[in-house]
Amino acid sequence: MRLVLFGPPGAGKGTQAKRVQETFGIPQISTGDILREARKRGTELGCQAAGYMDRGELVPDDIILGLVRERLSRPDCGDGFVLDGFPRTLVQAEGLEGILREMGKPLDRVVCLVVPDDVIVRRLSARRVCERCGREYNLRTRPPKRDETCDLCGGRLVQRSDDRPETVRERLRVYREKTEPLRAFYLERGIWTEVDGVGDVDEVFGRIRKALEG
Ligand code: AMP
Repeated sequence: MRLVLFGPPGAGKGTQAKRVQETFGIPQISTGDILREARKRGTELGCQAAGYMDRGELVPDDIILGLVRERLSRPDCGDGFVLDGFPRTLVQAEGLEGILREMGKPLDRVVCLVVPDDVIVRRLSARRVCERCGREYNLRTRPPKRDETCDLCGGRLVQRSDDRPETVRERLRVYREKTEPLRAFYLERGIWTEVDGVGDVDEVFGRIRKALEG
């Protein structure tokens, strides 16, 4: 299964993509995670992306398409993949279509998680991430057992720098302007499905599963 999980920042794409990965045995490919990892390791890619990310802007399309092309060529994508946080612009969607055409493996489905803005802002302001292992928490709905500490590895929990309210507003604005237009692109191709993204993780995953299997 070749799938895109689509939706605004804070819609739960990362959390749900992990569930899809576990359930269907296909790798989750998150461009945001790849960029954050590159920054942590101080690679050239990480340095190129850092400023854009901190301002809540999109990293240029050619950089993103280069890293996705490389990732999709790896053997673990043979039986499919779930893309999360990509594509985010029309140029990226067209680029992806070209890459997959060359591979003879078109997308099966784009599942969009629909979540209203007020829920997004609430979710992102309560999101915390373990600085050591990357596990995500939500201080209201999925809190750690001990304050500020990761249940899995004992690492310190921190707020992502782009989850601050000013940056969240900019990320939402960019989403509306650059990313939302992809709805028409995928509707035209007959592979677009919308799923209600409000609810707990199991509930939303149940809806995604139904959309994929139905
Ligand atoms: P995310 O974790 O998906 O919210 O991504 C965090 C940040 O990484 C975004 O705000 C962008 O700056 C950058 N980024 C991630 N994926 C993309 C993409 N497909 N296109 C451009 N920038 C991206």
